[in-house]
Amino acid sequence: MASSMVVPVIDVQNDNFKELWPAMVLAIKTSAFIALDTELSGLGNRKALLAESIEDRYKAIYHAARSRSILSLGIACYKKLDNKPADSYLVQVYNLTLLCSEEYMIEPQSVRFLVQHGFDFNKQYAQGVPYCKGNNKGGADNHGVSVRSLFTELLRARRPLVLHNGLIDMAFLYQCFYSHLPDRLTTFTADLSEMFPAGIYDTKYASEFELRLTASYLEYAYKKCKLDNSRGVEAGGPGPHLLVEFCQYSGQMSSYVDYRVCRAVAPSPGQQEICQRFSAFGWCPHGTQCTSSHDTDLIILQDEKLRQDKKSKRKRKRDKKKGGGGGAAEEEEEEELRESKISHMELDSADRPTQDGSIRDPGACTEPPPAEHAGNGPRKRLEGGTHRAGFDAFMTAYIFAYACTLDAKEEQDGKEKKAEEKDRVLPSCHNKVYLSGKAAPLHIVKSSFSKSSKAHSLKMELVWGKSLASTLLAAGIQQEKDGE
Ligand SMILES: [Zn+2]
Repeated sequence: MASSMVVPVIDVQNDNFKELWPAMVLAIKTSAFIALDTELSGLGNRKALLAESIEDRYKAIYHAARSRSILSLGIACYKKLDNKPADSYLVQVYNLTLLCSEEYMIEPQSVRFLVQHGFDFNKQYAQGVPYCKGNNKGGADNHGVSVRSLFTELLRARRPLVLHNGLIDMAFLYQCFYSHLPDRLTTFTADLSEMFPAGIYDTKYASEFELRLTASYLEYAYKKCKLDNSRGVEAGGPGPHLLVEFCQYSGQMSSYVDYRVCRAVAPSPGQQEICQRFSAFGWCPHGTQCTSSHDTDLIILQDEKLRQDKKSKRKRKRDKKKGGGGGAAEEEEEEELRESKISHMELDSADRPTQDGSIRDPGACTEPPPAEHAGNGPRKRLEGGTHRAGFDAFMTAYIFAYACTLDAKEEQDGKEKKAEEKDRVLPSCHNKVYLSGKAAPLHIVKSSFSKSSKAHSLKMELVWGKSLASTLLAAGIQQEKDGE
């Protein structure tokens, strides 16, 4: 069926950061949208991160982001290709190894998890790009070559920002590269809405509520989108289809590139009994010791078969009844899908995992450690390895691009967009961030009674210049009023 894809990930560290800077800034500036992913030194109290009250969750995230740090940052830039069909992109993926210059906490369980998944702490301490957390120190964020200035360039680009299960990522990005986090969640979301005027998108939310996938962990959603897209291409339909291309790196650049092979979905021979928990969450407490299969390809194909079986069963029922009305049956089908999703979410919140990775995104731990993982064959090993933040950002962006493609197709087929949605990409997911165990997302908005933080207002002047900042903020406030 579909062919494999080889994704070049550019490895950025202290000794090539300056050299790569112009290329990274250009990639950011010319992108249609940008996806980010982070690796963290810890998350703090896991239970508190899943508290019932969202304000309490924010408090836990706030404390984690204040005391822990970002160890690596993945950036995926998707640039629209000229003279090609509408959904063609040139993709550039960077994996930055970072080193926070201030004291921070490292949690043993996070370290264990990261080492198991190929994170190289030796490299981090020797070659991590240094940065300082919290508020801007001496205007350095505006000039020169630093991680914080790179974040400033990201804000200046004013492109849609895409994350997968991104609430914790956003808080850490804010605290590490922008300024101290505000005390209140409403202030945080108000600030974010101004920092990213083109919108923040969460592909975990999109996977569940827009694409309506059976599971929504990163690897599952990515592989399912890639599979469905390649089927569309092969069937030769009118499209639009998603097409991604990569740069050809040569000379000195090529020595910084790692190639990640991403094979077409196909079940591997051997182990066929699927681990149910992994199948639902992309995570299981037994990890690599689990006796059942954690093969995402196998899980996707089995889910598709189950869905197909259900459909044909229903069709037989319908045919028996005769003339039951197609519309009603379709609705029934939708209802059933929704129900299975809700029970899925209840399970998610009731069964709170405490292992690292599982809270942010269970899919984050699907890669087997290279040496220990027996029984899954060499195929899986190829997909594992380091540079997870970069590759995870790539997968996140791919899901988003695919959802945009489907959205464009619906519009082509006559779905009307509301007036305020006309100039937005994927309006149904605009500024909605996934909340584990909740049926509703977190809205990234500035409400009429919430203020943005002082540190943020000062940063905005630095990022955009005083006059532009006030113009943009005023425009934002105006938009707010119009929307009410
Ligand atoms: Zn398992």
